[in-house]
Amino acid sequence: MPAVVQIAHKHVSLGIKPEQYPIVGEFLLKAIKEVLGDAATDDILQAWEEAYGVIANAFIGVEANMYKEAREQENGWNFFKPFTIVRKVQESDSITSFYLKPADGSGVPAFKPGQYISVRVLIPGEQYTMIRQYSLSQAPKPDEFRISVKREADNDPNGVVSVYLHKQVNEGDTVEVSAPAGEFLLDATKTTPVAFISGGVGITPMMSMLETVAVSTPDRPTVFLHAARNESLAAFGEDIEKHALNMSNIQYKTYYSSGPDGQITREALAAYVDPAGDAYVCGPVPFMEAMIRELLALGMKEEQIHYEFFGPALQLEQA
Ligand SMILES: Cc1cc2nc3c(=O)[nH]c(=O)nc-3n(C[C@H](O)[C@H](O)[C@H](O)COP(=O)(O)OP(=O)(O)OC[C@H]3O[C@@H](n4cnc5c(N)ncnc54)[C@H](O)[C@@H]3O)c2cc1C
Repeated sequence: MPAVVQIAHKHVSLGIKPEQYPIVGEFLLKAIKEVLGDAATDDILQAWEEAYGVIANAFIGVEANMYKEAREQENGWNFFKPFTIVRKVQESDSITSFYLKPADGSGVPAFKPGQYISVRVLIPGEQYTMIRQYSLSQAPKPDEFRISVKREADNDPNGVVSVYLHKQVNEGDTVEVSAPAGEFLLDATKTTPVAFISGGVGITPMMSMLETVAVSTPDRPTVFLHAARNESLAAFGEDIEKHALNMSNIQYKTYYSSGPDGQITREALAAYVDPAGDAYVCGPVPFMEAMIRELLALGMKEEQIHYEFFGPALQLEQA
């Protein structure tokens, strides 16, 4: 069930509908038959059909509840809704923030810090719309979302949507957005120690969490460690300092891999992170693997360590 729920969040963010499951099932069975060849007996195919039916029904049930919740919350909606870019702000050489307001003038739902939205665009010259997820990068506000997008390489085929957003989407333009989703969540009621550890653009959900702590539990013991390749690529330095001014117990530091401090090491984590608290980790997969491995070595338990993939969920190497 936990795996179903995590995937269901992504499905709901993408706007997957129950009537699409039989289409996937039909072609999955055809693919199984093609790969197995003669080994695909009627019994085996029927067993797979039944198994797929059970899994599909589990997803459809979980997703129906999530759609209901998204629709019935204040200012909620299902599927995609037009939003206007009201402000576009460069945060570093590679990261730009987009402030988004509903085009119909309504407010936005109170999401949980750490959640993401999906953005759907129709790029001129492309046959199909494209959907990508972006974490919300500020604490919940009544009338706007902020996302912060790293510009990937602009050589085809990589970087299609991020380069389009950076280069061609401007203030006043419209994109389509789905309601907030995701399970990488700050428990904003806790007052126990918390560490935010990010690499590169993985800083975005941490900004939402940090601002939330600064506003709602400013005395919470907080550590904010960020890794960037160099100073020109490090975003949000001023925002972090601004939030820190409202907090009584925060330590923050940026590690530049090209600078004297290098990367975030076990020693650095041991110096800053209280193993009795919670840790939030987001960044490239090898970064997350290294950080989680070191946090476990410091004595943290798996349930204290929360992490988010900026791509498909993978099995992390912890050996
Ligand atoms: C939960 C979550 C939160 C994220 N938050 C952020 C964030 O805050 N900031 C940020 O910069 N990025 C974030 N990302 C990553 C973001 O969603 C994009 O992957 C990233 O912007 C690169 O997209 P692109 O189109 O520029 O690059 P591309 O390389 O063109 O596409 C990215 C991925 O989509 C696949 N893809 C490309 N075309 C298609 C297609 N036609 N059909 C299906 N798949 C295709 C590619 O194989 C690749 O894996 C997040 C991702 C997730 C899952």
